Amino acid sequence: MLRQSSGKEIMRVLDTKFARDFIRMADDGFLQGWHERNGGNLTYRLTQTQIDSISNRLNPYKEWQPIGTSVPGLAGEYFMVTGSGKYFRNIKEDPEVSTAIIELDDKGENYCIRWGLVDGGKPTSELPAHLMNHEVKKRLTNGQHRVIYHAHTPNIIALTFILPLKDEVFTRELWEMATECPVVFPDGVGVIGWMVPGGRDIAIATSKMMETYNVAIWAHHGMFCSGTTFDETFGLMHTVEKSAEILVKVLSTGRGKLQTITADEFRQLAVGFGVTLPERFLFEKELDPLDPVPYVKADFASRPYDE
Ligand SMILES: [Zn+2]
Repeated sequence: MLRQSSGKEIMRVLDTKFARDFIRMADDGFLQGWHERNGGNLTYRLTQTQIDSISNRLNPYKEWQPIGTSVPGLAGEYFMVTGSGKYFRNIKEDPEVSTAIIELDDKGENYCIRWGLVDGGKPTSELPAHLMNHEVKKRLTNGQHRVIYHAHTPNIIALTFILPLKDEVFTRELWEMATECPVVFPDGVGVIGWMVPGGRDIAIATSKMMETYNVAIWAHHGMFCSGTTFDETFGLMHTVEKSAEILVKVLSTGRGKLQTITADEFRQLAVGFGVTLPERFLFEKELDPLDPVPYVKADFASRPYDE
């Protein structure tokens, strides 16, 4: 570690806790089987203290590139990001090749690579979605949320082929699969029908969901999660995906549920754990032991973010 004349500590980027935590989370996701080839992406918004701690390690300004959308609420912010086309499998071995630190300009319309991607390349192709999600969450949480994570979680993806793509259905089914779920994601999960990834339209749709939820499911593709820390955000993705895995196992028996956690029991859980569970997820439903997916004709009200 160096010390500037001002006495401020200047660290190598890869020695900082945020960079080590970023790399560990990326590798944890790979080990879970969520990041085949170049699938998935991760971004982290640095604190001012973290920016100061690496300021002498950053590259001089070169070219500014368009983000592909406008995020004025993030003007001047720095992000550690995974690279487009880079494999999560390689991040632990070669972080300076696979990841970058970018700085946004004073309009929130362009970025400059200040560290990393030493063999060339660009930030993740989902940068517009990540940054629009960050902008929403920074505003809603007073800057507390700093991590946006996208992964190809197989069990959630499997469910998007057989459950109606309704927030109410996914939230209620996932909550029922593990008692901790309503405590871990009390706001529920949002579901977006299939869209072309990588562009502004899907970024807008996802960031609208982030107004209500910390989890957005992309049908036939994967999930986005938002959180304050690497632990919390990884834990959220892990909990939702494990719940989906249990549901896939239940549905794989070809049987409907004989018993489950009821709407009233969720209300008791909410009191016991001090969480608020929106009533729109606590609808009455009948179990049909012969029908594993009794939702096909279900009709739910429009989503809160569509109103
Ligand atoms: Zn993806």
